Amino acid sequence: MKYYYPEGKSKALTFSYDDGQIHDIRLAEILRSHGLKGTFNLNSGTLANEDNSFFVNKNKLAEIYAGHEIAVHGVEHKNLGNCTDTEIICEITNDRIALENLLGVPVQGMAYAYGAYDKHIMSLLKACGIKYSRTVGENPWFEVPKNFLEWDSTCHHNNDLMKKGEEFLNLPNWKELPLMYVWGHSFEFAGNDSWNIIEEFAEKMQGRDEIWYATNGEIYDYMQAIRRLEFTADGKMVKNPSTVTVWYKGENEKPECILPGELKKL
Ligand SMILES: [Zn+2]
Repeated sequence: MKYYYPEGKSKALTFSYDDGQIHDIRLAEILRSHGLKGTFNLNSGTLANEDNSFFVNKNKLAEIYAGHEIAVHGVEHKNLGNCTDTEIICEITNDRIALENLLGVPVQGMAYAYGAYDKHIMSLLKACGIKYSRTVGENPWFEVPKNFLEWDSTCHHNNDLMKKGEEFLNLPNWKELPLMYVWGHSFEFAGNDSWNIIEEFAEKMQGRDEIWYATNGEIYDYMQAIRRLEFTADGKMVKNPSTVTVWYKGENEKPECILPGELKKL
């Protein structure tokens, strides 16, 4: 079976920005005003208690990041490669707990501080309830990751962003579920006043019928729903046990969907 993203869209675009400095306010607004969505990875231990600080005000997260997702980046931005198992578990779990208390929703996404991870760290993250985590590695092929705890981006925003965007818009039709995933830090735009990089990209990508604009978590949830589909052995029936509507390519690539809980004849 070949799939679409929700509402029969053929491509997805997402962003991932780290560290929660105040420049996130401007970035979140640029993305939001163009109908784009991303995930902001925060260190609960460095968030501020007031405005006009170096980091965002922890009492205004819902307002600052409206329409976006908030994820874990470690309480204190520790390099997990240098931590004991107990330290890793505390750094991640306590960040979850602090962010969840501020937001009132489960926080199960993450980005690795310093990009540091290995197999052992990934196994500890599972125990901490983390479902997906971004690396600083790049996968230039616009692919959804096989292992979401090792989620490479398409590119950092300083790495030929417009060229990659152009490539993404012109991908051949056979490419299934292409995903463009851009990462960075908002302070990089502020540091050398290069906001035009993200503004021009947002202008170019906005309002396209074929693109699903989603947070990291929404993409994770959708891919899990696809992976959970249950087929009969002859492939003639499919059941969707999840709470997410799954879209696929019917005859002549017409978008069809399988509703939550539906048992469908193919
Ligand atoms: Zn960081």
